Amino acid sequence: MPIMRWSSGNDTAEANDLFKALEEQYKEDFTNPELSDEELQDVFESWTLQMGYPVITVTRDYTLGTVNVNQERFLLTNSSSTDDHDYKWWVPLTFTTKTEKDFTNTATKEWLKRTEENKQLTTLTTVTSDWVLFNIQQTGFYRVNYDTTNWKLLISQLNSDQYEVIPPVNRAQLLDDAFNLARAGLLDYSILFSLTDYLARETDYIPWYAAFNGFSFLNTRLNKATDSEYSVFKNYVLSLLEKAYATLGFEEKTTDGHVDRLNRNLILTWACRLGHADCIQKATQHFNAFVSDQNANKVAPDLQSVVYCNGLGNSDGAGFDVLWEKAQSTDVSTEQVLILGILGCTAHEDSAHKYINQSYSEETPIRQQDISLVLSSVTSYGNVDFLTSYIQKHYQDRSPSQVRSLISSAANLLRSEDQFSKLEDFVQSNKVYLDVTDEQATSLLSSYHSNKAWATTTGSTILTQVKQQIYRLPTTISPANYVIRLTPHLEEDRFNFDGEVTITINVAEYTNQIVLHASDMVVDTAATQVTNNDGTVQTISSHERNELRETYTITLVDSLVVDQQYNVYIKFLGNLRDDMWLASTQFESTYARRAFPCFDEPSLKATFQINIGRSSTYTSVSNMKIERTDTSDPNLVWDIYQTTPVMSTYLLAFLVSDFEKTENDAQDTSVWHRADAASQASYSIGVSRPLIDAMVTFTGVTFELEKMDQAAIPDFSAGAMENWGLVTYRERLILFDETVSTSADKQGIATTIAHEFAHQWFGNLVSPRWWSYAWLNEGFATYFEWFITAEVEKDWRIEDQFVIKEVQVALAADCLESSHPMTNLVNSPADISSIFDSISYAKGGHHNTAEASDLFTALHTTFLTVNPSSEISVIDVMNTWTTQMGYPVITVNRNYDTGRTAKVKQERFLLTTSADSSDDHDYKWWIPLTFTTNASKDFTTTQTQIWLKASENEIDLTDIAANDDWVIFNKQQIVTSSLISTCCYLSTGFYRVNYDDTNWNLIISHLNSDQFTDIHVLNRAQLLDDSLNLARAGILDYQTALNITKYLSREDDYIPWYSAFTAFSFLDARLIGVEEEYQLFKKTNEPHTDKLLRNLVLTWACNLGLESCVSAAKEKLAQKIASPSNVTIPADVSSVVYCTALREGGEEEWTFLKAQYDSSNVGTEQVLLLTALGCSTGTQIITNYGGLGTIGSILKGIAARISTQEQLIKLQSFVAENEAALGDAVTASKQAIETAQANLDLVASNRAALVTWLREQSPAAPEVTTLFTPTTTQGATCITISTTLIVLASLVAYWRGNP
Ligand SMILES: [Zn+2]
Repeated sequence: MPIMRWSSGNDTAEANDLFKALEEQYKEDFTNPELSDEELQDVFESWTLQMGYPVITVTRDYTLGTVNVNQERFLLTNSSSTDDHDYKWWVPLTFTTKTEKDFTNTATKEWLKRTEENKQLTTLTTVTSDWVLFNIQQTGFYRVNYDTTNWKLLISQLNSDQYEVIPPVNRAQLLDDAFNLARAGLLDYSILFSLTDYLARETDYIPWYAAFNGFSFLNTRLNKATDSEYSVFKNYVLSLLEKAYATLGFEEKTTDGHVDRLNRNLILTWACRLGHADCIQKATQHFNAFVSDQNANKVAPDLQSVVYCNGLGNSDGAGFDVLWEKAQSTDVSTEQVLILGILGCTAHEDSAHKYINQSYSEETPIRQQDISLVLSSVTSYGNVDFLTSYIQKHYQDRSPSQVRSLISSAANLLRSEDQFSKLEDFVQSNKVYLDVTDEQATSLLSSYHSNKAWATTTGSTILTQVKQQIYRLPTTISPANYVIRLTPHLEEDRFNFDGEVTITINVAEYTNQIVLHASDMVVDTAATQVTNNDGTVQTISSHERNELRETYTITLVDSLVVDQQYNVYIKFLGNLRDDMWLASTQFESTYARRAFPCFDEPSLKATFQINIGRSSTYTSVSNMKIERTDTSDPNLVWDIYQTTPVMSTYLLAFLVSDFEKTENDAQDTSVWHRADAASQASYSIGVSRPLIDAMVTFTGVTFELEKMDQAAIPDFSAGAMENWGLVTYRERLILFDETVSTSADKQGIATTIAHEFAHQWFGNLVSPRWWSYAWLNEGFATYFEWFITAEVEKDWRIEDQFVIKEVQVALAADCLESSHPMTNLVNSPADISSIFDSISYAKGGHHNTAEASDLFTALHTTFLTVNPSSEISVIDVMNTWTTQMGYPVITVNRNYDTGRTAKVKQERFLLTTSADSSDDHDYKWWIPLTFTTNASKDFTTTQTQIWLKASENEIDLTDIAANDDWVIFNKQQIVTSSLISTCCYLSTGFYRVNYDDTNWNLIISHLNSDQFTDIHVLNRAQLLDDSLNLARAGILDYQTALNITKYLSREDDYIPWYSAFTAFSFLDARLIGVEEEYQLFKKTNEPHTDKLLRNLVLTWACNLGLESCVSAAKEKLAQKIASPSNVTIPADVSSVVYCTALREGGEEEWTFLKAQYDSSNVGTEQVLLLTALGCSTGTQIITNYGGLGTIGSILKGIAARISTQEQLIKLQSFVAENEAALGDAVTASKQAIETAQANLDLVASNRAALVTWLREQSPAAPEVTTLFTPTTTQGATCITISTTLIVLASLVAYWRGNP
């Protein structure tokens, strides 16, 4: 007989009397008692004389078959308490195993004594696949935690049809323990949610009761998250209770027992609370019937709370009056209490106010003992806006302390900034009435802030785990091959497709369920068939679609046999997207499941044999070559494709269209396009095969497919998509027209094709295990897009452009607190799409190695063969760069007294540090340092000279340079050294550098001399980019940064100018609000012959209002409008002409350019015109552009132009109001707001310094008119490709051998 049942509850008997009773009971139960009388006394005292109770942790050794049990006091929060009492208990251990399954014997099997912190049990089980479960029937007063493996064994039992092997009380115990252990930080939330997942099968009251205790805690806190985040949680819980809801039903049954009714009340309460549509609808129906005729439509007592509350929530004041009347007239006390506790649910503001008044009224019919029900029903179920409006309207009727109490109740319920500011306004303007100091006023509202803080930190971690649970498939089954038959119907009246798929699956773990993805389609479940290899049909017991998880689950009567293959046949009818006039596909990240039922996760690779039925007027194209075309069907032509290599679902593609194709001579590469765009395909088809050849050369791995098709798709939602063997593009990223497309367009096309081709190796051949490793693909593809383009377009100085356009852009994007580390937990479709942002693209591109730890391990092995004595761990180095947010700034402080020495320290670079940041992570990196001096001027050797380790804040360098010599760190700001060249292919220039004033001044004076080209062109760009950004972050004074820019009067290279203009664009936008100061900033420089530089300088000259530039631009467009067909504006200056003329012009220019846009047949030209159209409208962009661009980028553009606090508030409220609609763009929007805020802060603190500096400079107006006439010479620079690529090649070779 377990003693703990009696450990509480007797408050009259003397402790010793109770002990004696227990002792007797104990001796009765155990005829051969193992504990002495003294020990028994101690058992008793350990439970009565100490606070709290223990958690025991069960850790198994699966090799030895032993179990270690440890005890410690269970605390929900680990406060820094001074209680140093040694809490230990006598813990009566009971347990069973999967083999034994004995849940009836609750006798103590072993004692964990008060003197024991740990105990080893050796006889429990030797079967590794057995779970063990402690605290049978939860007869002991303690919690139990397990090692992860044992939790998983228990969870897999619960997630099977045999979940009832574990009795309801222990299912409830596992839930209750797991919720509380997770809350206390002792259990990972991912374990908790894989446990709660089993609730989808659960219909028993006892476990559900425990589950809702846990969910309730999370619900009241997570509902302070944003609507979209909170809905993840709501939908998850709703998806779990679907079966219980369906089993119990809304209506009572004559067969119901007592517990069924308790259970129904519980399940309905939560279903309705979380917004279950059927529940709310039924409750409302019942309520309306009840209101219309109370006697005829009585509500069953156990349904009343649900019906009344949700009915009130969808009713006007009349519903409230009926219930209020009933509460006063009933003579049944329980009924009265029930109604009083629920009237706060009303959706009628005046009724809510009337009700709150009752709780203060002298004449209320409510008895004193029930008064508290009024306010608690309002604060539990009511609309917080009614509470706020009550406070605003009625505060003078209430005492200050009553109002204060209402305010703090309301503050705890607030969800939005808007709600908060209303209440805060009230408090601020009524401090006198409320009788509070400023400090007290703030603390009245403080729970709003702490709730929000919890929601954005702990809450968001929890939601990440919920998403993981929702969006991942079980690992029991994997696909091997698909045979797909699709017939798209492109007719006006029938825009859908018929499909059939046969999937060959492998069974990895015991299961009787096949769960796969299917979305936006009708499955003909009657046709579904599962057969084993010899053709035997498996009996299906049920089919289930889950909209939230986008899954289709087939449950079989018998279990599938592990290691056997089965065939799953599914017939379905899918929908073509209605904005397309041709059937093309875009499956990344999660859309293959809309085309056919499949295991739609990147790591679940298989082979695919595709068959497409089409009308004879169309053609089809897919990943593979057509094997044969079958014309035997009179209605449909069938294209039968070769089977693909093993690949991920998201890379599949097909296109059914009336497009034409342009081919290369070898007929192995083609571009499909609209019939009238043939002339625009010649540039891209010319570079395509050479780009593939360059990839083959670099990787040493041949292109696996026999052909490469590309397609230019009008209105393509993604920019381009790397489907294996059939790459799809937005038109402007592949079609090029010499007469209207610019040099920048041309470069964009070449690099986009290169990028997508790089993915044919990085991503298609080697795929990410999950989307959180997207940067790995994107990193390599971004890297290669530059370097294989350089192979094909040899005079474009691509290597230098990489530094200013990728490295410096990534540095700029990655320095806000909202940045995410490159390896990020992503799960939901929205998350997956947000990780494909500029951070993944550019930062990933810069790192020359990748995240996945197996990759690092492989790299380390390779590294050691070249550097056998190195103590550097590649794994450690790379982890600091890929798992932490942001990047470092190193500060070089030279000591000119002792001479030749310097301290180099590292810290995270942030543009702004918010005071209330909760991020206390200790950011440190392994930083490969390179540097040179005025004496040596060696900018070409870029091997790492010394490491600044992640364990070091600061290091000392000796013998650096003479006192009057400058030092420059981070040579060329780029990955250049290689595996072959001995040291470190890990070299990464991904950091900023700051110096002491003396060194900065030495650099400045060298830059301002005729010898400025001694400093490498990339380091001139780096010095500009670093110094201006350091100044922006407040780390360096603007005087110094701007003094560096002075040397630009000598500079005639595009690369440093590009960096300078990027940084200037920030300064310029900041000063727009201040006309006089802005005038001073008009300074541009001498003309250059480079086409890109001309565009850049002209843009600036015109943007800064340089009169000669503006009038030239207006003149050009006026000529064009007067005679559209005779006047040609050179492509490279057209953006400047259009934008300037629009900004300075009016209706006429807008109409003309809009018409040009509408009639343009060239993608690149359309984008150019569209961008120009934005010049005339400022903040109206969103409305005028309506759906034409990416909202996220547009918001970023707006944020960059914000120069006043008012504009920022407008932007913030726009984002807040449209959070749901913004969807995937929310992260981008928040970053935009942070940027804007940082910018405003900067203006406030630095305006005076900036203006002073600008006044000192005398603006010289350059001669710009000649710039409008382009010359034909271009700066021709021979590119040497970084030997680092050899490392990448060896990686690919490694991967090939290790799929
Ligand atoms: Zn990509």
